[in-house]
Amino acid sequence: MTTLLPFPRLRNLTSALAGSPKRDQMALADAFGRVATDLRVSLTDRCNLRCAYCMPPEGLDWLPGADVLTDEEIVRLIAIGVERLGITTVRLTGGEPLLRKNLELLVADIAALFPTPEIALTTNGIGLAARAEKLAAAGLKRINISLDTLDPDTFAQLARRRRLPDVLAGVAAAREAGLQPVKINTVLLRDINDHEAFDLLQWAMSEQVQLRFIEQMPLDPQHGWKRDEMITADEIRQRLGQHVELVEDPEDAVARGSAPAELFRVAGTDYRVGIIASVSKPFCGSCDRVRLTADGQIRNCLFARTESDLRTPLRTGASEDEIAARWVAAVAGKQPGHGINDPSFLQPDRPMSAIGG
Ligand code: SF4
Repeated sequence: MTTLLPFPRLRNLTSALAGSPKRDQMALADAFGRVATDLRVSLTDRCNLRCAYCMPPEGLDWLPGADVLTDEEIVRLIAIGVERLGITTVRLTGGEPLLRKNLELLVADIAALFPTPEIALTTNGIGLAARAEKLAAAGLKRINISLDTLDPDTFAQLARRRRLPDVLAGVAAAREAGLQPVKINTVLLRDINDHEAFDLLQWAMSEQVQLRFIEQMPLDPQHGWKRDEMITADEIRQRLGQHVELVEDPEDAVARGSAPAELFRVAGTDYRVGIIASVSKPFCGSCDRVRLTADGQIRNCLFARTESDLRTPLRTGASEDEIAARWVAAVAGKQPGHGINDPSFLQPDRPMSAIGG
């Protein structure tokens, strides 16, 4: 049964209601012909796991609470994005976004904006079992859940927490709540979980969730990533190919657009598995993403070396026009790609958990 919540709370804080006067529209365009329409909002840099490829066992120096945007500030910035800057999709990320108190209310506030963006969530799934239905009722449509292994011991080794059952319960709850699609994001690490590729595929097919393998990227704070240790997209395909035939469907290639995953149909079925070759075959040329960090900084790329501060103008009384102009300028300076394959590549100072996936 759907639980009704008293939302939206912040409707009166935005001018984004249907019928409000039309605002000046600007596009978040860069010098390479790309337009950002997909806003990824990190709600916190904190996480309840300690995945080895993401943070050290003791955690990180978290952002000071006063620096983290309030719900009201987040909704105000998202309203500027959807009303004026052509944002059509809002993905809530972290850290772990389920750690954000009142996430359901925040989702409802975003869903009350006009035009209503499509709202998605990227989560590790812990705690989702109790909240998926409320999130769906609040307006959440899509969900990506990170899951690298089906083995409880490997999970505990990788995430340094013994929480696999919670994640699996979260996956089931997301499906039952009608979130569509439920995508599973999997990173394979050599000699840790790389032997599980086919097990994960079989599980995802039986659970009717969309599995996507993602090449590991250099975003760990320990700077331990080594290209020659990475399990490449070609290797993943080869490993799965030992068990099933993977068919490239020309229609999938046409429909891919700016989606990062290359889809392969499992022969004899309608099931499609995704492989995201973030490093070996970058898709930056069709990138439509822009990121807002939990402390109010715009990052025009996951790997950007600079950020544009929206929190200070937001807190010092800047007008929506001024904030929108600052955001447009931030995206205009976007680089053509992540440059991981260039000898001069430098990892961003912020780790993945503080950027948002
Ligand atoms: S690395 Fe940067 S430019 Fe490339 S797809 Fe990711 S966010 Fe877009």
